[in-house]
Amino acid sequence: MANQAGPVCRLCRREGVKLYLKGAKCLSNCTFDKRNALLPGQHGLARRRKPSDYGIQLRAKQRARRMYGVLEAQFRGYFDRAERSSGVTGTVLLQHLERRLDNVVYRLGLAASRREARQLVSHRHFTLNGRIQNVPSAQVRPGDVVGVKERSRALDPIQNAVSLLQNRSVPDWLSLDAEGLRGTVVRLPEREEMELVIDEQLIVEYYSRR
Ligand code: SF4
Repeated sequence: MANQAGPVCRLCRREGVKLYLKGAKCLSNCTFDKRNALLPGQHGLARRRKPSDYGIQLRAKQRARRMYGVLEAQFRGYFDRAERSSGVTGTVLLQHLERRLDNVVYRLGLAASRREARQLVSHRHFTLNGRIQNVPSAQVRPGDVVGVKERSRALDPIQNAVSLLQNRSVPDWLSLDAEGLRGTVVRLPEREEMELVIDEQLIVEYYSRR
């Protein structure tokens, strides 16, 4: 399973933005605002140097990759597919990330974080169009229905996520049946419905150097 090792709060400090990797704890017990002036590690107190263009592009790519919990090779694969498509490369790249099944489970509010969604999917607790789907990177399409498996509805992580639903909003490109613990992909997401803290143009520039 693609995952990122190490203390996850360090990743938020490294990227200078809250990546919401710990689910409910990110809402109630986050130290980012107190510590975000510091880089992780023993030299975190050192002043940040002005980054180069390459450094800025690299950070933009890493921020997106870490936010969605995707390893480098897979991220590069999404970029290559986006570049070959007829659409705007940066937007199509973000759509590939948003269309991952683990992201859709998170967006529907059926898991508290993408990381938790990835684990629940790989442990066979979710269905795609009525059939168990345990591949977190599976790409959803308009019309697809994502649901919690009948026998998994009482699981603590799912019930905990559902209890937070009133604090979260489901984007318009998805529709949630909260009673049935299932959601439908209405259409592909528009740019403004995806992560606004990501600068996809910088990511395109990063890969264009290579
Ligand atoms: Fe840690 Fe979540 Fe806060 Fe990031 S947003 S620093 S993962 S608690």
